[in-house]
Amino acid sequence: METILTITNLNKIYNKQVHAVKNLSLEIHKGNVYGILGPNGSGKSTTLGIVLNVVNKTSGEYSWFGGTTQTHDALKRVGAIIERPNFYPYMTAKENLELVCKIKGINYSKVAEKLEIVGLTERMDSKFSTFSLGMKQRLAIASALLNDPEILILDEPTNGLDPQGIHQIRDIIRLIASQGTTILLASHLLDEVEKVCTHVLVLRKGEMLYSGTVDGMTNKKGFFELKSGNLETLKSALENHQDIEKIVEANGDGRLLVYLKNNLEAEDLNSYLFQNNIVLQHLVKRKHSLEEQFLELTNNH
Ligand code: ADP
Ligand code: MG
Repeated sequence: METILTITNLNKIYNKQVHAVKNLSLEIHKGNVYGILGPNGSGKSTTLGIVLNVVNKTSGEYSWFGGTTQTHDALKRVGAIIERPNFYPYMTAKENLELVCKIKGINYSKVAEKLEIVGLTERMDSKFSTFSLGMKQRLAIASALLNDPEILILDEPTNGLDPQGIHQIRDIIRLIASQGTTILLASHLLDEVEKVCTHVLVLRKGEMLYSGTVDGMTNKKGFFELKSGNLETLKSALENHQDIEKIVEANGDGRLLVYLKNNLEAEDLNSYLFQNNIVLQHLVKRKHSLEEQFLELTNNH
């Protein structure tokens, strides 16, 4: 798969004090939608700033498009919004985008095409100052798309928007992704990453805690809830099972929570216990939601 961006052992230390990015390594491949997920202050914006050449790295490397081009040229193939959109308030949406085209040497025909994608065609002759925050953000996305970038980078794209505005932005991101543009977005919102992204990189205090598919994060581990008349025999039978990682007693209501290290079907566990003369009163297999996984990942470190 084509590599868009490679980061190797990247570090950023601000003012010799704040270690904002710690030995970060990752790869961004063409066609995927990546979420950098982490609480505020985890180093998301710093990481994006470094690869976009607006923040100086302390050490480590990054390379665009397999290292075939210098950063300056590579960034012409990148679209990014890392700050609040900044346009001329007294000019219309169309005029603002035409100005961007003029500066970057892009054909004006792109303006209508990109306004269409972000749903602003009908408002193209309205002054920027009359736009809602959501419309301003959509115009910024249109602007970042003018040069048909191979990757679109967005830092907290729905911050400050109302629910409808958030919904529109997420739909637009999915539309752009479906047309083949790679996307890298930073967010502290778990449900945003879950709804929009195919891949996730979880950061906490500048360190990567998880990297992989969103599905993989959800499905990684499962656990069983079990109940039986004799808890002690149940426990000792479970302790001997090779696929079980740990057994936890749930808040004194007689249920056992059985965490797995390998995949195990309910049917197989049930028949194993039955062979050990244990009859269950209750058997449910559950999967952690991404939210539980995220909290687990960010708390236990
Ligand atoms: P995020 O985008 O995940 O919220 P940031 O990359 O903005 O995280 O910040 C990571 C850490 O670096 C935080 O502790 C933040 O206070 C610090 N930091 C960010 N920018 C600067 C700066 N310009 N000077 C000093 N410290 C900074
Ligand atoms: Mg940030």
